[in-house]
Order: sequence, then C-alpha cells, then structure tokens
Amino acid sequence: TRAALARIEAHADLGAFLHVDAEGALQAAQAADAARAAGDTRPLLGVPVAHKDVFVTRNMPSTAGSRMLAGYVSPFDATVVARLGAGADDFAGADMVTLGKTNMDEFAMGSSNENSAYKPVRNPWDSAAIPGGSSGGSAAAVAARLVAAATGTDTGGSIRQPAAMCGITGIKPTYGLCSRFGMIAFASSLDQAGPMAQTAWDCAALLTAMTGFDPRDATSVQRPVPDYVAALGEPLPGATAAKPLAGLRIGLPSEYFGEGLAAEVEATVRAALRELERLGAKLVDVSLPLTQLSIPAYYIIAPAEASSNLSRFDGVRFGHRAAQYKDLAEMYGRSRAEGFGPEVKRRIMIGAYVLSHGYYDAYYLQAQKIRRLIADDFARAFTQCDVIAGPVSPTVAWNLGDKADPLANYLADIYTLSASLAGLPGMSVPAGFGAGINARRPVGLQLIGPHFAEERLLQVAHQYQ
Ligand code: GLN
Repeated sequence: TRAALARIEAHADLGAFLHVDAEGALQAAQAADAARAAGDTRPLLGVPVAHKDVFVTRNMPSTAGSRMLAGYVSPFDATVVARLGAGADDFAGADMVTLGKTNMDEFAMGSSNENSAYKPVRNPWDSAAIPGGSSGGSAAAVAARLVAAATGTDTGGSIRQPAAMCGITGIKPTYGLCSRFGMIAFASSLDQAGPMAQTAWDCAALLTAMTGFDPRDATSVQRPVPDYVAALGEPLPGATAAKPLAGLRIGLPSEYFGEGLAAEVEATVRAALRELERLGAKLVDVSLPLTQLSIPAYYIIAPAEASSNLSRFDGVRFGHRAAQYKDLAEMYGRSRAEGFGPEVKRRIMIGAYVLSHGYYDAYYLQAQKIRRLIADDFARAFTQCDVIAGPVSPTVAWNLGDKADPLANYLADIYTLSASLAGLPGMSVPAGFGAGINARRPVGLQLIGPHFAEERLLQVAHQYQ
C-alpha cells in the first residue's frame, strides 16, 4: 500500500486518480497485515485496489467524473466496493485495500476519457495518447502499476477498450453477474461492472470476489458463484499437455476484420490468433451480419436510458445547485446547465428526443428490435464456435485532442457495442503493439462468449498469457 501510494504521487501527471484516501488505505493495510500474520491466506487480502469513480463509496467522494457531483459523498458503499473491500451487513468482503477513485468520462459517456469534467488521463505507454474510455483512469492506473487492480464499468466497451489501449487485461461479465447497486447509472439495461488487472489470473480472483446475487439490484442474477481462479487450472474438454486449447472452436466474425480495421491492429490480432491455433484451438469463420447496426441501435438506447437516469440530478436531492434562480424551473434548468458537460447534454437531448411522443416508434422501438436481432446473430454464431475472437478497437489509442467530433468517437466503438447489446461477456487481452510510430501503443485481442462463459474466456486468456 505504501509503495502504491508513492507511485500514485510520483505519477500524478497521468491524471488517473480523482481522489486518493491515503489514511484510510494505510489503516486497512495495517488490519490486513494483522490478519495475514494471524494466518489469513485469502489471496486478495491487503492487495491495493482502486475504484472507478462511478462506484459510490462511503468514505470518499463519488463524482462519476462530473461537476454535477463535485464533493458528493454517498451514505453507503456500492456492492462491488463492499465485496472487494470490508464487506457489508449481509456478506463478507475480500478485504482488499481501497486506495482511491479513478478518473473517467463524465457519467461513463465516452471512449477517450477526455469527457472527464476534471482532467484528461494520459496513456502510460505514450503521454500524447488517450488511455481509452470511459474507464481510462482505472486502465492507466493498472498499466502504470500504480495499483494491482481496478474496477471498471462497461456499457458499450468501457472496460474492454481502455484495457486494450493500455495493454492490460479486462473482462466485462454477462449482464447481471455483478451487482449494479451503488453504480451511478448510465444506461441501466447495459451497465455492467468488471475487473481490470495485469492478467487473466488477477481478473479471475477479482471477479470471484465481485460476483454474487444482490437483492438490491433487480437485474442481479441468482446462480452459484464459480471459483474463477480454480477454473483456470481445469483442463478444457479436449485438452492435452501440448495443446491446452485442443477441441476449442474460435469463431472469427468476418465483419470484425473488414473495412475500417487498421492494418497494424489486424496484424497483431492475427498473430495472437495464430498463437491460439498453435495451442490447439480451431479457427472457424462466422458472421455477425448486423454489426454495423450496433452503432445506431446503441446510440439510441443508451442515450434514451441516460436521459431518464440523469433526470434525478435536479439540484434538489443531490448534486450541484445553481446559486441564483427565480423559481423552481429556473433552479432545475440552471443547476443542470452548470453541472453537466457537453457530451452529457448531447446524450440527454438525443435520449429525450427518441423517447418523445411521435418519435418513439421510429427510433427507440426500432433500436430495441435491432438489439434483439443482434443477440440472435450471436446465438447463431455460437452454434458454430465456443468463443468469438477479434479486435477490441479498430485502431490503437489516438492522440489527445485528435477526435473532437463526437461521431468519430461513436464509430470507434464498432467492435464492442454488439456484445453489450446482447448482454454477453467480453474480454480484452493484451496482444502486442501497433507498428511504426505506434510501436508503443498497445493492441487488445477481444474474446466474446455465450452468457455466463466467463470461465471459458478467462481460461483461454490464461493459456494465451
Ligand atoms: N463509448 C461508449 C459510450 O460513449 C461506451 C461507454 C461505456 O461503455 N461506458 O457510450
């Protein structure tokens, strides 16, 4: 914990943290040391962790990267925070040491972390580059080894894409696996928490601790929690010592290798696929024909849900309140005008528009139908393969300031949105780097599985690593 705190301070210029709780962390570390000395052998005990600032925490501020929540302190811990930390009344925690809260795009809306109301995050591999988003602070903190692991959330790629761009491992579980209780909501039917760490092993350890039914989240799934670490050691059905992935069919969607994919990313991903083949996996061609439609569908559904979720920030119950106003309507208006940044306002306007009378059928309902068809595409593909593999992002991390156009950011989400719309688990595994001037910018390999195939994704990543 002391070493982590020193590194966080020494690398403050990365902008990875919005809040550091040195005192609380040192106290928790001392308690963990005492437990360790008394014979407690749990693997996560005392290991430093940081939480994306979208998770509410009792002892430190939670802003979701927004001015709207500047200084806001929650009266309770998010379930994920409690499970990894000190626990709650009705469940035990893993007793990791919480160091602080990581920077993020405002309300998790973005792909570059430049939408943080506080400061941008720099990519530890190359300070001119973005870290990806929206969990950019968590990704940068892990990549720069400021902290062993961090939490992230993924609504349309926000764990996988920054993990890829920072060269770390991250997994977005099946929708409903990790509790959303205490996660400041962006798009509730898509939001999912997950771990970001150096390796699949680390992610497996965190995921085991983060997972579990939560009566406080209506979409939390009720099923036994696997020991994801133990599962890493279990051989796949057809495995041999020399070919640990024998019997595994890996599907390559043609739509993930087409136009728009940078040659340097494709080359690195294809090299990773050859390695998986060498380990015994069989590569098969599959198709996800509606991939292109994931962008319009997601950018209708997510803003629609956001416009509803963000209506709670009215300057009354919590959050920023304007200093001057004539009446209640002006108080609402000014508080929201001052508290929200431009991308959040854009999404609220799009969301309110597509949900409004007369447009609902044309946009929202259509998007919901496409969402169902995208899930059907995956179901069909998974009759031909066990796991889908491809790139996470069409390019390596771009430079800060280079993508000012919001639409250009949306288009870069092409390979991550579909799995989110279908509620499927998706993972990013470091595969190598770009080429030429991008030789220090990481590339991620994406693995997507059927619902609740987290064990399989982690096993494949573990063998590859
Ligand atoms: N980039 C996507 C967006 O801006 C995804 C963000 C996320 O997964 N939180 O909505």
